[in-house]
Amino acid sequence: MKVPFLDLKAQYLSIRNEADQAIQQVIDKCAFAGGPFVESFEKAFAPYCQCKEAVGVGSGTDALWIALTALGIGDGDEVITVPASFIATAEAISFSGAKPVFIDVVQSTCNMNPDLIEAAITSRTKAIIPVHLFGQMADMDPIMKIAKKHNLFVIEDACQAHGAEYKGRRAGSIGDAGCFSFYPGKNLGAYGEAGAVVTNNTELAETMRIFRDHGQSKKYYHKMVGWNGRMDGIQGAILEIKLKHLCAWNDARRENALIYKELLDDIDSILLPVETSHTKHVYHIYAIRTESRDELIAHLTGKEISCGIHYPVPIHLQEAYKTMGLTKGIFPVSEKCADEFVSLPMYPELNKDQIEYIAQEIKRFTVYS
Ligand SMILES: *Cc1c(COP(=O)(O)O)cnc(C)c1O
Repeated sequence: MKVPFLDLKAQYLSIRNEADQAIQQVIDKCAFAGGPFVESFEKAFAPYCQCKEAVGVGSGTDALWIALTALGIGDGDEVITVPASFIATAEAISFSGAKPVFIDVVQSTCNMNPDLIEAAITSRTKAIIPVHLFGQMADMDPIMKIAKKHNLFVIEDACQAHGAEYKGRRAGSIGDAGCFSFYPGKNLGAYGEAGAVVTNNTELAETMRIFRDHGQSKKYYHKMVGWNGRMDGIQGAILEIKLKHLCAWNDARRENALIYKELLDDIDSILLPVETSHTKHVYHIYAIRTESRDELIAHLTGKEISCGIHYPVPIHLQEAYKTMGLTKGIFPVSEKCADEFVSLPMYPELNKDQIEYIAQEIKRFTVYS
């Protein structure tokens, strides 16, 4: 049985009529760049995230960079984040002019370890960016408490966590701003590139709206040096359609995670994702851990099961950041995760037969290896 890692086509086919109509509407109205379809999506996405405001932008990377910049973070500042993430988290900090300062993660969830924050704070620290890795929110209460004590902003990298919850509060609603990616493979994925920043701070939202549109609040009157960070009209229309299905799709992911757990729980050599008691995980990625990662991937690939690795190299060891002089051994938990993670197929349309087949092949691998 062939099991793809992702199946974007299956999802499109399930909403084909709605999606095609939405795109046609944008074309009919020629509302291609920003405009009414983006605004309409923003009005739906903000309350979905339990926030007052949502600002649609060009990508998740844009969202992070625009949030940092609009909060006044830049040259000479430091921003605390984790090395166990996609590189965009650190890139956005670097491109704001600030310096990323990494701290390690906790073993159980691979999310930011709040106990390590205070030791990393200096007089230059301006913000903390926790990453809600794989769809599970970081431990926000201690993070917010430390931020408050030291007068720091908190920007949630919620790019993998659309609809995830922490103590009943949705991803993006707890910090000063929450940043989302709508890259096609994300839980809420566009038909191209898109992102958004959500916030309860209306003034910050206004600054971001002006910034993403060349610093203009009125056409050709520019009150600040901004950027072109607008969301496409077509993406706004598609995202509004897809948002209506997001709760059901996240539930289907959670159901699939439960089936994986039932089938794989008794294998000692494999660690399954842990959903902590106060979070609702939305399983953007279903990453298991094993010391024989490469061998397991080879076995599954041979059985036509596609896997991924998120991510093989932690950010501090990436060539792009080698000038920071951070060497192997300083963030042992992040490094071990990078060595052991295997992402199994995970999407709402994945069916029980497929999961049973994957679990059977993992079991056969662990018995014979
Ligand atoms: C996807 C992602 C981003 C970047 O989003 P883009 O839309 O691809 O720019 C940032 N952070 C994390 C954790 C991501 O998964």
